[in-house]
Amino acid sequence: MINSDCIFCRIANKELQANLVAESEHAIAFWDISPRQPIHILVIPKAHHKNIAELTQNSPDQLLDLMKLGTDIAQDKSSGSFRLSFNTGEEAGQTVFHAHGHITSRTPKDQVA
Ligand code: AMP
Ligand code: ZN
Repeated sequence: MINSDCIFCRIANKELQANLVAESEHAIAFWDISPRQPIHILVIPKAHHKNIAELTQNSPDQLLDLMKLGTDIAQDKSSGSFRLSFNTGEEAGQTVFHAHGHITSRTPKDQVA
């Protein structure tokens, strides 16, 4: 399901431009517009689920696909030391209510000696 009021649905649907990194059958990854670490990429399901709990509940196959894409990208872009985190709910800092994982790392692969 695509929600035309949702900014991440519009990115997944390629209606809104983003700096894409990779995509899989059910997920798409792009650079965060306001990076907080040298590597800061978002990985989202193509379908609209409001958070990671709803995605897990409704579509475990999509969740697996998203986690695989996210960890593959994290290992490809970072030294191997990274975080993959999902803010869930306003009090946890979620501001976009379309499930998304933050892939962050302080050590990009190309900066490791
Ligand atoms: P959260 O606070 O966990 O909901 O994270 C939302 C993230 O989406 C923030 O890190 C924003 O910088 C990022 N963001 C919002 N709009 C865009 C956009 N159009 N393209 C890329 N990243 C975005
Ligand atoms: Zn959405």
